[in-house]
Amino acid sequence: MEGFDNIVVGAGLNGLVAANYLAKAGKKVLVLERRAIAGGQAVTESFGKDFQVDALHAGGQLRPDIVSDLGLAHPTTVSEPLISILPDGRQLRLSADADEQTLASIRAFSQRDAERWPEFVAFMGQASAFLDAAYRTPMPRLPHVTLAEGWPLAKLALKLRRLGSKDMFRVIRAMPMSALELTEEWFESDALRAAVASVAINGHTLGPMSAGTGYALMHNWLNRGGPGHRRVEGGTGRIAEALVGGLKARGGELRLSSAVKTVLVENQRALGVRLANGEEILAQTVISAADPRHSLLDLIGAPELPPEFVWAAQSIKMRGAVAKVHLLTDSNHGLPNGTLVMAPSVRYLERAYDAAKYGEMSTQPYLEITSSGRVVSLHFQFAPYALRQGNWEQQRAQLESCAIDTAAAAFPQLKSAIREIKSLTPLDLEKTYGLTEGDLNHGQLILDQMFFMRPIPGWSNHKTPIDGFYLCGNGLHAGGGLSGASGRNAARAVLKAN
Ligand SMILES: Cc1cc2nc3c(=O)[nH]c(=O)nc-3n(C[C@H](O)[C@H](O)[C@H](O)COP(=O)(O)OP(=O)(O)OC[C@H]3O[C@@H](n4cnc5c(N)ncnc54)[C@H](O)[C@@H]3O)c2cc1C
Repeated sequence: MEGFDNIVVGAGLNGLVAANYLAKAGKKVLVLERRAIAGGQAVTESFGKDFQVDALHAGGQLRPDIVSDLGLAHPTTVSEPLISILPDGRQLRLSADADEQTLASIRAFSQRDAERWPEFVAFMGQASAFLDAAYRTPMPRLPHVTLAEGWPLAKLALKLRRLGSKDMFRVIRAMPMSALELTEEWFESDALRAAVASVAINGHTLGPMSAGTGYALMHNWLNRGGPGHRRVEGGTGRIAEALVGGLKARGGELRLSSAVKTVLVENQRALGVRLANGEEILAQTVISAADPRHSLLDLIGAPELPPEFVWAAQSIKMRGAVAKVHLLTDSNHGLPNGTLVMAPSVRYLERAYDAAKYGEMSTQPYLEITSSGRVVSLHFQFAPYALRQGNWEQQRAQLESCAIDTAAAAFPQLKSAIREIKSLTPLDLEKTYGLTEGDLNHGQLILDQMFFMRPIPGWSNHKTPIDGFYLCGNGLHAGGGLSGASGRNAARAVLKAN
């Protein structure tokens, strides 16, 4: 048996970022990934000849300070506008630049809203900058805050204060608000309110009338750098390639097709891992980038944990409701470039969400459509993991036809252009990509699961009741999106303790 300083479970971006920081600090690091490909949810993969696509996440980038800390060759990213496709054939184009094209597009719906857009994007910039600082700040284990842990929090409070009275109150107020309330305060056009609200609910099992979607809007705006995606040239998978290259250059190891079955624990201390093939590998520290439920309840196991902690881990709300339908076309799909959304009104979005509340797939879904060469990708909400009737194998055909019919209503050429279909249901997200209940956030980003309550109230500093076992994935504070922030925060916590 060989020994490592650190084993990282999972080669998603957060796991790879953590591994890079640890290797940079001179640690002997091994990353173990269950799939045959690195990148987790940020993979670019092939579903057949000429059918190469960003399988799940449509774009993003690592935090620039992480790229510079690690000296990574990060791929170039390009910000796309968000284009709302309306049933009457009109289009509403939005970008964070408040450029003349955006303002003219909004003006066609409301002169007043066009005048407010520059102030709105400036406010969203302030709110995102504050959230960015919050994600850089490790959360303490309340209520036992040491002076050393309290100091970064005090600096964060100062940052909030420095926004000035007006924006400070706006940011604090906006977080618990619903996207509907927030957008109603800013705009009069329902089409504009809905386009902005669609960004808030993207990836979340929440409707625009749900409390806390104000915070979700800030979170997604920060990750995207505006309303539309940041497309990664060559695909999101190139970010993982850059991280794997960085890890190997520092002497770190990555083993693919190596699922961790169990974390070896003795006297409440992690000793290493046992793989699904029975191999045991020892390490001083094990850091899991998999979701907290899988990490704590499957890899560690309830018998090793205090009963209250087990209950808290079981109670993490994982409610996946996103599906993807990728279409390989003959190129004549007729779609413009950009992040396209079919979200004509706030009421439409709320109705799409309503279905998920009752365990049903939306029949009039909120779609986000992106295209890259011959491939058109339909991000479908809402498709709940837990269906009230039937199962996802039975519902797959209905998912595909509903997604295609909805998109084809705006782009009639699309149907005849389709050559192949590859759909990913919430069950596929669990089985193939390792996301419990298909939850891409490793635990919903909702008010009672954020900041110092993420992943479990009182356990937000990446540690667990098992000595030497840490968590670093996007179920932790600062997780969500491709920023890599929770991976870096975790690596710092590990290095501080060792
Ligand atoms: C359709 C879609 C849209 C999204 N949109 C957004 C968005 O708008 N905003 C946002 O914030 N985020 C979004 N996300 C989430 C985002 O992609 C992730 O936050 C991001 O990729 C970082 O995830 P991660 O590295 O923490 O975990 P993951 O990418 O999930 O990586 C975890 C890794 O651990 C591996 N693993 C799990 N268990 C084991 C085991 N036992 N042994 C070995 N390996 C294991 C998995 O295979 C996986 O590679 C989206 C995701 C999807 C699917």
